[in-house]
Amino acid sequence: MTVVRSIDRMARLSRRFQAQGKRIGVVPTMGALHEGHLSLIRRAAAQNDVVIVTVFVNPLQFGPHEDLARYPRTLRRDVKRSREAGADVVFAPSVEALYPPRFQTTVQVGPLAERWEGQVRPGHFRGVATVVTILFQVTRPTRAYVGQKDYQQSLIVRRLVRDLRLPVTIHVLPTVREPDGLAMSSRNVSLSAPRRRRAAVLSRVLQEARRRIRAGERRAAPVLAAMRTRLRREALARIDYVAIVAADTLEPQARLHGRVAILVAARLGRTRLVDNVLVDVP
Ligand code: AMP
Repeated sequence: MTVVRSIDRMARLSRRFQAQGKRIGVVPTMGALHEGHLSLIRRAAAQNDVVIVTVFVNPLQFGPHEDLARYPRTLRRDVKRSREAGADVVFAPSVEALYPPRFQTTVQVGPLAERWEGQVRPGHFRGVATVVTILFQVTRPTRAYVGQKDYQQSLIVRRLVRDLRLPVTIHVLPTVREPDGLAMSSRNVSLSAPRRRRAAVLSRVLQEARRRIRAGERRAAPVLAAMRTRLRREALARIDYVAIVAADTLEPQARLHGRVAILVAARLGRTRLVDNVLVDVP
């Protein structure tokens, strides 16, 4: 298990892996690794010859009033967990190395990045798309693994590699949850105990919405109204958005058909949580 801080060294190492004909699995993360990340690493280890976990809290994807400074940083533990899950390399570059002084080129994704997270967090996906492009360039993945938990991000990463013809296959893996249903997130640790208990309401409203649609409801409006009411009442959450969208374009749907994604984003105190489920509507 190797920890690499230098970008040049990582680039040399991945070129060597490639020259040796090794399949490279890459798991991009911001660290503070939990079971959700580990599920991606384990899958990468099962499907590739070498696994690189990238750990980089990317300032470019945080807005000026977001939690960049408070974001948990636990590299020593992340290295240990990565190794135990089957990683061969942890690539953890510094901000100064990744964004040297005259850095000025970014990757801008179109309409997929405009709504939902993109609207609440302007510039967020430009930051994500830029860092993912750089990380893929340096690590040369055969396959890269991302979570459905950040559903819009997973679509954007897929779109990005198609549009820029990056030679990597993206695998999107299911959301790993706590026993009470809360989607695992590095941000969950910053919830106070009472808010942590209420946070499970996010996944419950998603389950409930999916149940109603499976039971035959085809109108988005009443499902969304019930979700909003329950989120406000039980989670005491400020809602950024709840939406039912076409799973491939993220456009809102009034009448439900085909594969849809139900999205929720809310703030409990200073902690922002996102979650989603997919439903196939006959
Ligand atoms: P992050 O470190 O939060 O940027 O996440 C790194 C990767 O792990 C992203 O592809 C996330 O979608 C994925 N991920 C985060 N939380 C989970 C989870 N609970 N289950 C599955 N994947 C996750």
